[in-house]
Amino acid sequence: MLLFFTSLVMSIIMAGVILQFYETPKTRNLKRENQRLLGQYELMYKNLENVEKVLNDIQQRDDNLYRVIFEADPIPNSIRKAGFGGVNKYAQLQSIDNSELVIKTARKLDIIAKEAYVQSKSYDEILNLAQNKEKMLASIPAIMPISNKDLKRTASGWGFRIHPVYKIRRFHTGMDFTAPIGTEIYATGDGVIKELDNSRSGYGRSILIDHGFGYHTLYGHMSEYNVKKGQAVKRGSVIGYVGNSGTSTGPHVHYEVHKNGKPVNPQYFYFKDLTPEEYDRMIAISNNMGQSYD
Ligand SMILES: [Zn+2]
Repeated sequence: MLLFFTSLVMSIIMAGVILQFYETPKTRNLKRENQRLLGQYELMYKNLENVEKVLNDIQQRDDNLYRVIFEADPIPNSIRKAGFGGVNKYAQLQSIDNSELVIKTARKLDIIAKEAYVQSKSYDEILNLAQNKEKMLASIPAIMPISNKDLKRTASGWGFRIHPVYKIRRFHTGMDFTAPIGTEIYATGDGVIKELDNSRSGYGRSILIDHGFGYHTLYGHMSEYNVKKGQAVKRGSVIGYVGNSGTSTGPHVHYEVHKNGKPVNPQYFYFKDLTPEEYDRMIAISNNMGQSYD
């Protein structure tokens, strides 16, 4: 009896040992299937990398072309490539064989889905801007603030100039147009009169127009206003008249264009007024003037 049990136990152990080295058809099939799945995963990962490349190309074009045309700021990388903080959402995958590849693939898919979502939001915004394009074109400053047919009224431009009163080099953040007192001053784009200001430092009687789309224009040293605060104006509306108020050495209008709160060179905003040749001449005149009228 003891012998019987001993041999039974031995046989079971032997069977176990044999099974370690010889696979049943079932385990062999499972292993093969596992290999195929692994291959599929590797292929899927490569495909996802290709999708990511295409998506990156779309993002580049969006930031560097479409968003530039419609004057939208590029979407910062911190938003485009925002990660997934907090809990490890892939923890449950860690027990799987080849978990590294599975997690890597799941993570890549999540990132691509997020980036695609950000991209589609961007296109919604661009579409909206495109539908508003007509309004935007009417609003962006695009003419000179006074009639300047032969460009003789072009005085001093953007850049370092000797200040006419203080006689020191100062950065002139606008453009000066000289004209007799009483000459009409035009709104250079559609907008709303935001400020009529007698106290703005040095600019005397001055008007600030809000054009929307991040644009403001400033007109200084006027003699009289022709508009009220809050009034809507069209491009070409007479908003006031040339004067010599504030820190000024002669009748002129000091004109500034602001984009997102910062002065920018007004010479880029005369495209409705000037031919390319006139434009070149204007730049030459305004750059040669060493002293501003301020
Ligand atoms: Zn000036």
